[in-house]
Amino acid sequence: MNNKKIIIFDTTLRDGEQSPGCSMHIGEKLDVAEALESLGVDVIEAGFPAASEGEFKAVQAIAATCKRSAVAGLCRCRKTDINKTYEAIKNAVHPRIHIFIATSPVHLERKLKISESECLDIIDEYTRYARTLVSDVEFSFEDASRTPVEFLTKATQTAVDAGATTVNLPDTTGYATPQEIFGMITHIRKNVRGIDGVVLSMHCHNDLGMAVANSLAGVSAGARQIECTVNGIGERAGNAPLEEIVMAIKTRENFFNARTDIKTSLLYRTSKLVSNIVGVKLPPNKAVVGANAFVHESGIHQHGILQDKATYEIINPEDVGIPKNTLLLGKHSGKHAFKELITEMGYTLNDSQIDDVFPSYKALAERKKSLSRIDIDALLNGYTRRIVKRIYKLKEYDISTYNNSAAATVTLESDGKLTSDKMSGNGPIDAGFKAISAATGQNFKLIDYQVHSVTGGKDALGDATVKLAHGDIQTTGQGISTDVLEASLLAYLDATNKLLQYEQ
Ligand code: MN
Repeated sequence: MNNKKIIIFDTTLRDGEQSPGCSMHIGEKLDVAEALESLGVDVIEAGFPAASEGEFKAVQAIAATCKRSAVAGLCRCRKTDINKTYEAIKNAVHPRIHIFIATSPVHLERKLKISESECLDIIDEYTRYARTLVSDVEFSFEDASRTPVEFLTKATQTAVDAGATTVNLPDTTGYATPQEIFGMITHIRKNVRGIDGVVLSMHCHNDLGMAVANSLAGVSAGARQIECTVNGIGERAGNAPLEEIVMAIKTRENFFNARTDIKTSLLYRTSKLVSNIVGVKLPPNKAVVGANAFVHESGIHQHGILQDKATYEIINPEDVGIPKNTLLLGKHSGKHAFKELITEMGYTLNDSQIDDVFPSYKALAERKKSLSRIDIDALLNGYTRRIVKRIYKLKEYDISTYNNSAAATVTLESDGKLTSDKMSGNGPIDAGFKAISAATGQNFKLIDYQVHSVTGGKDALGDATVKLAHGDIQTTGQGISTDVLEASLLAYLDATNKLLQYEQ
């Protein structure tokens, strides 16, 4: 195959994580990093190590965990930033320092208050410095798409001459059109000496809904790396979604003469994992991984699909790993069958993790006669493997409602001891959450609460998400049950347990 390989650079843990409501804690970040590595992502941007001590530790832990993917840390043009980043990533198998500076007139004049020539000096100095530490240095010109192309060419030339191995030309504000991106990359490739030895990269934002189109226009013009995030999470309207970039290149391989090393059959699961961890559900019409992406409703379309799938389906759902809704396990299935199935589904849980999650599976199977792959995925994606200890477990609950008032009694178990509390509220959820707060003695702030059904039908599982905050720390909890009240209490308790642990 002569198709050029496109490097997939995932920034879910940096650009994605810094967007509102998407913060993750170290265990969750490690779960995402592991999933990204299994997915076949070439470069994982793990964070911004100089931003805080917590960020530093998370990047360090990810660098130590990843065996195949390169691990990048982002930093400003400052020696202290670069040193801190180097410290965080130096133990990675493939460490990459990612430095940036803005180059557009508005950023130079208003934000940085430096001239163009000062900017070039900075690019030269810090690229050279980073290269003394690692051999893989990426330089990004923030707001490149709004930078006059003559200056952008000079900036790129400077970074290339100083030893940058990747040059990223972001559409930071999501302003450019595909034709402009194509023109920018073409100009840079024609006018920078030695550019063929360097990887040109795209990093596009979705403010006008053109992030994917712009990234691919860059590829058509010769860019060899795309920076993207799972589900497109990121600042404002988000980044280019990884799953859309990858499936566009795979589906239109002959058009782009390009390929990626992404294992596309893991796209759906990775999307669900990130969606569950950050508590951001996808719209049903989301491309590639939305609930309706492969549903054919109109009669004419259904008729076509029955004759030949190719009439209306350009992607095979199995290629992105959409699980079939076939029934698999019942309440008589034992731990062995459960282990075999989840292993076949691609999960790698050890025996103690299986012991930990098996009771929840058993409880579900008791009530829902049989469980499908979608149900099992929902159960396992809500299970944060690295949570050290479930401090409180839900033992019993009793909730009654009468018109607009409700009372809830909740019994929790902690270290073998039972604690119970009764509270009233203006509805069953309100009363239940208050009773948990009273029983744990914690008064966390409720930020968000959502309930969705996992599959259709009368016995569908309810999937509840609760976001709680205490000071600066925010956590997302998930609960799965055939009973939405129970799912809600479990989600509230999950978020509480995480918050209590992260505070320690
Ligand atoms: Mn960005």
